[in-house]
Amino acid sequence: METVCPYCDRFMEVPDEIEGTRTLCEFCGQIFTADRVFVLFADQTNEMACREQAG
Ligand SMILES: [Zn+2]
Repeated sequence: METVCPYCDRFMEVPDEIEGTRTLCEFCGQIFTADRVFVLFADQTNEMACREQAG
């Protein structure tokens, strides 16, 4: 899943299983809660954002 660091506002890919847990930002080194976010501002991600989950 994608999450975003509230300290440096960087997006990063993290394992789904750490959602809601505290994780270490690989960019700034701060500890933050990994909330799932959806990246909608870039055209490149439209395909992923629009992809429907089957079952
Ligand atoms: Zn950070």
